[in-house]
This record gives sequence, structure tokens and C-alpha cells, in this order.
Amino acid sequence: QVNSQGMLCVFQDECLGQGSFTRVFKGTKVDIREGEEHRTQVLLKVLDANHKDYWEAFFEASSMMSQISHKHLLLVYGVNIMVQELVKYGALDLYLKRKGSVSVSCKLDIAKQLALALNFLDEKNIVHGNICAKNVLLAREGDPSQETSPFIKLSDPGIKVSLLDRNVILDRIPWVGPELLQDPPILSLDSDKWSFGATLWEIFNNGETPLKDWDLEMKRRFYGTYQQLEPSQWTELADMITQCMDYQPASRPSCRVVIRQLNNLITSDYEVLHASEAPER
Ligand code: ATP
Ligand code: MG
Repeated sequence: QVNSQGMLCVFQDECLGQGSFTRVFKGTKVDIREGEEHRTQVLLKVLDANHKDYWEAFFEASSMMSQISHKHLLLVYGVNIMVQELVKYGALDLYLKRKGSVSVSCKLDIAKQLALALNFLDEKNIVHGNICAKNVLLAREGDPSQETSPFIKLSDPGIKVSLLDRNVILDRIPWVGPELLQDPPILSLDSDKWSFGATLWEIFNNGETPLKDWDLEMKRRFYGTYQQLEPSQWTELADMITQCMDYQPASRPSCRVVIRQLNNLITSDYEVLHASEAPER
């Protein structure tokens, strides 16, 4: 594929899998600068043939991501096919499930980085609309023994949530803000705060899927009766999640407050808590 901006070719390699509306492939980007060839591994995200009617929305997500740049936001190189940087360790939920034991300080680092990405979008007045652990990609693992931190990149939101069918939105409970189920749905920066709260829950529960296997009616009732996810034993963290997942969008904390609260969480509190739990297991 040749890009209109010049000497850029992208080659498609193996298929990596499927997203909700997309198929993803590994690829190689070759660009020629000053007569030299530069090769980068990329991820190609293509709208699935069954969802062609979402073409405009896919294009919109793709262009939004390619126009902004932040160290914790995924880099998108091209828009017709979404050509993105290939992120080594892939989706965070799968990574956490696979690893089983990621240290609390690593999880906290990840949460802080995600809050920084959120703050950046907030300042630019950009609503993401699909924040969840599967859309947080891990570029670098953290290794406490080497004192290296993990490094995350927030991926694109895909098809805009307000265009999705009601059942798809219901299925996104508990990540979607409850205001998206109202008629008409309301999507604002506050909705990303709710999703951030649900993502925090996933991070600190080792990538476990909240409300896994619940059917749509049960999920609808969960919001209908103003329920909350099972609270963490780490009360300070549980409080933060509850504040983000406030059924009143305007009552959710600002990004600044979220960042400050994350900085105030002291991992040793968590460790002490879990050490005292250990004998019961
Ligand atoms: P959604 O439409 O809600 O974003 P999704 O995240 O499952 O759904 P995609 O964003 O198309 O769908 O991604 C499919 C899968 O491909 C992801 O779950 C992740 O495992 C992997 N993936 C996506 N983007 C990248 C990337 N840039 N680098 C590495 N792996 C990726
Ligand atoms: Mg995604």
C-alpha cells in the first residue's frame, strides 16, 4: 500500500486476530528517508467486511488517533487501513491474566500512566469512549528487580460508542457510563472517568473480566439498581473506583484529582493487607 504522503509502503503479514469490528494483522512499514530504507513492525487494523456500514466511524477513530500525540497514546501512522505501532506485549487484560502475578507497584504505575493519557485527552477536550484493559496495550514489562517500570499505550476507541446498537452498549456494562443507556445517550468526558474506574478494577483484579458471563438483562439490571463492582479490600483504591463509577457523571473526580489520589496510594498498605490475608488461604 502506497501512502499519498510519499515513499511509504506497508506490507501485510500474518493475521493476529479479531476485534469487535475489526481484523488485525502484523505488518511491516517501509519508508525511505534520504535514500535509506527504514523498516518498522506495525499493526494493521482493518474494518471487518461484516461491518462496512461503520466505515465513516472507523475512519473518524483512525484520524482522531493519528492527529494527536502523547507518550501514553498509541501512535497511528495511517488512516484508511489503521496502521499502528505494533505493541510488543499486546492487550493488558490478556497480559495480566497470562502473568497471574504482576506486582502492585507495576499495576499502580500502569494506572498512573493511563490517568496521564486520560488527562491529556481531557485537556484537549477529546472523549475516548472505549477505555478498558483490552484497549490498554503494554509496550514494556516492568521488572521490580531491575527497577524498570512498565509502559502502556492507550489504543484507539474503535467505532464511536454513540453509534453502536443498544445491545452492544449493554454488553459493554460495566465499562460504559450509565448515561450512555439513557435516551438520548449522553457521552462526555465524564463517561471516560467511569470507564477508567472499571479499568482500574480490571488492573487490580489481574485482568479478570468484571461481570463475566452475565447476560444483557442482568447487566441492565446492574445499572438499573445502581450497583457497584465488588470492592477491593484496599479501601483507598476501592474508594477511588467508586468515585469514578459515580452514577452522577458530574460528581466524578477530575483527572487532576485522580492523579493526585493515585500518587497518594502507598503500595505497602496493600502488601500489608495481603500479607495478613495469606494465612487464611
Ligand atoms: P474494540 O473495538 O473494543 O477496541 P478490540 O480491542 O478487541 O475491540 P481491536 O482494537 O481491533 O479490537 O484489537 C484486537 C486485538 O488485537 C486486541 O485485543 C489486542 O489483543 C490486539 N492489538 C490491538 N492493537 C494492537 C497493537 N497496536 N499492538 C499489538 N496488539 C494489538
Ligand atoms: Mg481495541
